[in-house]
Amino acid sequence: MTHDTYLWSPPPVYSVPVRGKSERFPIRRLFFVGRNYHAHAAEMGRPVDKANAQLFYFTKSPSTLVESGATVAYPPETRNYQYEMELVVAIGTAGFRVSESEANKLIYGYACGLDMTRRDLQLAAREQGRPWDLGKDLEESSIVSAIVPANGSVLHHGELAMTVNGEPRQKADLSQLIWSITEIIADLSKFYHLQPGDLIFTGTPEGVGPVVTGDRIEGHVEGVGEISLNIGPAE
Ligand code: MN
Repeated sequence: MTHDTYLWSPPPVYSVPVRGKSERFPIRRLFFVGRNYHAHAAEMGRPVDKANAQLFYFTKSPSTLVESGATVAYPPETRNYQYEMELVVAIGTAGFRVSESEANKLIYGYACGLDMTRRDLQLAAREQGRPWDLGKDLEESSIVSAIVPANGSVLHHGELAMTVNGEPRQKADLSQLIWSITEIIADLSKFYHLQPGDLIFTGTPEGVGPVVTGDRIEGHVEGVGEISLNIGPAE
């Protein structure tokens, strides 16, 4: 029994559904790519010149995971809670220092994701050279739709778009990613032993903005699926 081993019940295994399967996809880690669309990098005041830039990442705890369709509380200690609609790559095979040409073999499938952000806290941390955790790694901030199995195939294009209360806010094409899916996997695998259950949020296009209590976000990625989120009252 649990109480013979642990003082209290250990955290659950976080997981998301897989389209067409009864088994769920158990989550290991959540990785996020920063600044991976030119127009978004520019709107954040940090334009990217790929020739002189490197991929960079941040992480969130798996406990921040929320399934599409949920209602989340407006989070504490922010006045600027923002959406970031993203393509999510689900890793299904372990890999370390994989080449770009082999990177696709790690791909289990894809999902739609929302990287919800306390933008005021993120930017304050950025300006002071501090970690982004308070702005990014907040409870209920990683929203994921059902994973669509892809069996190693790489997405090169497809519309990514989202609305708030039915009004268009972000719209882009996956062909606009500065670093491609296979470039991201190869690069990230230099730093981490990628494992089944890792999710990689691949970055957001331009048009990020705030939401308030009562708002409903709806988004889609062509060929992957749809995602939604309702913003509830603050606690
Ligand atoms: Mn993001």
